[in-house]
Amino acid sequence: MAEPERRPPRPFERILARLDDSATDDGRQMHELLSRLYPICRSITGDGVRRTLSMAREYLPIEVHEVASGTRVFDWTVPDEWNVRAAWIEGPDGERLVDFADHNLHLMSYSVPVDEVMALEELQEHLHSLPDQPDLIPYRTSYYRRNWGFCLPHNLRQQLPQGDYRVRIDSSLAAGSLTYGELLLRGESSREILLSCHICHPSLANDNLSSLVVSLFLARALAAEIEAGRSPRYSYRFLWIPGTIGSITWLARNREAAERIDHGLVAANLGDAGDFHYKRSRQGDAVIDRAVALLLRDSGRPHQLEDFVPFGYDERQYCSPGFNLAVGSLTRTPWGRYAEYHTSADNPTFVQGQYLAESLRLYAAAFGLIESNRRYLNLKPHCEPQLGRRGLYRAIGGGEDGREKELAMLWVLNLSDGDHDLLAIAERSALPFNSIVAAAEALLAADLLRPVSVERDQESP
Ligand code: ZN
Repeated sequence: MAEPERRPPRPFERILARLDDSATDDGRQMHELLSRLYPICRSITGDGVRRTLSMAREYLPIEVHEVASGTRVFDWTVPDEWNVRAAWIEGPDGERLVDFADHNLHLMSYSVPVDEVMALEELQEHLHSLPDQPDLIPYRTSYYRRNWGFCLPHNLRQQLPQGDYRVRIDSSLAAGSLTYGELLLRGESSREILLSCHICHPSLANDNLSSLVVSLFLARALAAEIEAGRSPRYSYRFLWIPGTIGSITWLARNREAAERIDHGLVAANLGDAGDFHYKRSRQGDAVIDRAVALLLRDSGRPHQLEDFVPFGYDERQYCSPGFNLAVGSLTRTPWGRYAEYHTSADNPTFVQGQYLAESLRLYAAAFGLIESNRRYLNLKPHCEPQLGRRGLYRAIGGGEDGREKELAMLWVLNLSDGDHDLLAIAERSALPFNSIVAAAEALLAADLLRPVSVERDQESP
């Protein structure tokens, strides 16, 4: 019997192989882009989001959508567009003490225009600082209640003298639109995998420019594979949207497309040094939930699996009961659990290229796993087929490696009854998913398996 026939490499395998060769380079390039995006003042609407997407378009032809203020989206309304030109506080002696031009976190997002002189006591009601982290500037927003505010280091706040302060916010809150980016990369099937991340934060790096750059680089790599004629099975939809209102807006405008989403991930916090965390979808045992869990198991690295809660990022909307999509959230350290979160310390120094590259690799591996997760039927189910006669022992040397390959083949043969997919076989056998895939391919080449129909393949186990 001939050696198992080598099938053409699949797109994610090629992406992963290339990442293994060039992880440092990818990490460096992602970090460079993140550093270029960092100074832009983004919010849930406005020119900062447009500039961000136009920089992302240097890498890929992302489609940019504009949805008019006032548009009803389920129970919400697309808000007025916010833009800011300048904002500062001048002290009693005319010195500029806090200036948006120095750091965009100094201004509370969605602050209304102000031009007033007021006493320190009155100003204090509009100041935000962190007594426990007195050197950092906090991040504050007031999207849906008209207000204004400044954020500053607590140390500076404590030194403010009594007297009259001039407060100037040159902003506009007016009818305009909400902007988001979208890219659909078509595979063999119209069924979709979703990757969504929020792009509404101003100068904050891990939350969430890290995910913007990781998802952009993954989309670019996949687009290059498709361009070269190596299509994935699934179609891939990438969304770069303002948090909450962006996913609500997308879902309201794309109810049919949402029905095509079989698996999805919400990406955030992908550039810190922390372990990976996976928050399951509302379904809890969807293929994406099991795929990511298995991948993290196979990685042998510390990680955390957590159940769905209706709090967090845009998975809240994708997993709302009317949609109940199989969308989990894969992050490094989750929101709110690192000291730098939502402060000026979440900057490009906090995020590192090597961690971005690891995250990119894990996302590619997760989608690669789903791509190669098939169901097969054992064509010789009455007792074990004789593997030696088919040359399937030939590649096996002595030792553990050979034993694992043999065991993987026996598991695949035993559980390929049409009900178990390769993921289920990897779970039950406790063998690495890659070993199970390799065994299935060897058995397929030896005519001991055949794939079940694609429709059957897409059913949940
Ligand atoms: Zn955030």
